[in-house]
Amino acid sequence: MSAHPEQPPLESITTATTALAEESDAVAATPSLPREIQLPSGLLEDLRAIAGAEALETAGRRAGTWLAAALGEVLATENLAQAPTQAFWDALGEILRGRGWGRLRQERVHSGLGVVVAEEWMETGSAAAPGCPFTVGLLAALFEDVAGAPVAVLETACEGRGEEECRFVFGSEAAVRELRARLEDGVSEEAALAGF
Ligand SMILES: [Zn+2]
Repeated sequence: MSAHPEQPPLESITTATTALAEESDAVAATPSLPREIQLPSGLLEDLRAIAGAEALETAGRRAGTWLAAALGEVLATENLAQAPTQAFWDALGEILRGRGWGRLRQERVHSGLGVVVAEEWMETGSAAAPGCPFTVGLLAALFEDVAGAPVAVLETACEGRGEEECRFVFGSEAAVRELRARLEDGVSEEAALAGF
């Protein structure tokens, strides 16, 4: 008998149900805030198997819109671009960690590209299909809210592939496309980023 019986996953994700709140006045208990539901993180793998990575990225984008609103509340601003940079990253990390998503931090910023690192992340995909498309959508929508322009996000490493951390590079679509091409040529992320 195992001394450590299998536990249900502690991580959970929080999904914005903005659409439901918008579509039905009856469910909008607090009209200014989207309602939230919590799902076991393992459900993301099931959803990906059923609906595909693109659908998860789209769902992540909806959650990113919610996250931007939540950050605005915490930082007391309607324009996240005006929030102090450190306060922004601190609040973002705190909101996600507090909901069991794992640890998120900004690692460094290159000219035109930023890197976000996630550890013990709630989304890693399955062994057969590793990767974090929900998080890619989440970060893209959040950063687009800040930037007021399209932002592309590329996951360059993933805990689901046995790597130490999930790494997300973000920037303009052109810059991320260029980075992707360099990585596909076999250049390391560090070397590829150094060229920016
Ligand atoms: Zn990942």
